[in-house]
Amino acid sequence: MAKKVFAVVRSDWVPHSVDVSVPSIARAYDFMLGGAHNFAVDREIALKIDRMMPGLRAGARVNRAFLGRAVRFMAARGIRQFLDIGSGIPTVSNVHEVAQAVDPACRVVYVDRDPIAVAHSELMLTGNDRAAIVRADMRDVEGVLGSPQVAELLDLTEPVGLLMMLMLHWIPDEWGPGELVARYRDALAPGSYLAASHVSADHVGRPMHTAAEMIRDSGSRDRMTVRDHTGILALFDGFELVEPGLVGCAEWRPEGPGDISDEPDMNMLLYAGVGRVNPRRPG
Ligand code: SAM
Repeated sequence: MAKKVFAVVRSDWVPHSVDVSVPSIARAYDFMLGGAHNFAVDREIALKIDRMMPGLRAGARVNRAFLGRAVRFMAARGIRQFLDIGSGIPTVSNVHEVAQAVDPACRVVYVDRDPIAVAHSELMLTGNDRAAIVRADMRDVEGVLGSPQVAELLDLTEPVGLLMMLMLHWIPDEWGPGELVARYRDALAPGSYLAASHVSADHVGRPMHTAAEMIRDSGSRDRMTVRDHTGILALFDGFELVEPGLVGCAEWRPEGPGDISDEPDMNMLLYAGVGRVNPRRPG
């Protein structure tokens, strides 16, 4: 089949290194959340998947609502510093906004490898001396934790709220996602938390695997790995999951109607959980 050619209009907000002829999951997700930092290729893949799994945008909103609840949960337990890995293109209710609404002294470091996510986060954070972004691949654990932004804003001898929202399914098994999470976990003080959400096919079945194939075939550098409940639970190794455990995203301590979608499948499209660094872990 002939490859579709899109007329690409380069806006001045696009860094020159960005290839806007292949989709990026950061930009496709921005589109699903109603953002403006995306191109025809991003919208096409998002709409293709949405046609197959109607209500996908509601799933993205349910994830953002979970992110807000998880940050408030951690802040209510005394967490005042956050490391948000795979933070994406800024949208509404970003981690620093939620955390600093609880306590303006909260400090936040964002990490993403997508240049547009980084450029827009830098713009958004101008003038906020308690939040910054690092452009890095999360696999570069030393680079992230040793970055000037982390050194300036986070005290790793104190508990940190680590977020990996809709992030770990972009780490294929051969990259060792469990080992990567463990390297971050081991750098955190006892009493730190991990909050994560992750796609699964447990409830929607085959369409989720087809979505992963569509992303692979789109030319995007991003590869989605669909995991089941057991596989996602394993990523929380060394963390004590807080109640209600690893559950459908909308089932994690919903606070109001905005946390739950009218599309039942979208409430269960992602698993979500929050775990506390186990103070009794060996070593
Ligand atoms: N965390 C946000 C949320 O849940 O609303 C955004 C999630 S977005 C779907 C996933 C983000 O992870 C994208 O911005 C992408 O660039 C980033 N990402 C994927 N793989 C990454 C990696 N290896 N290192 C750093 N960021 C990565």
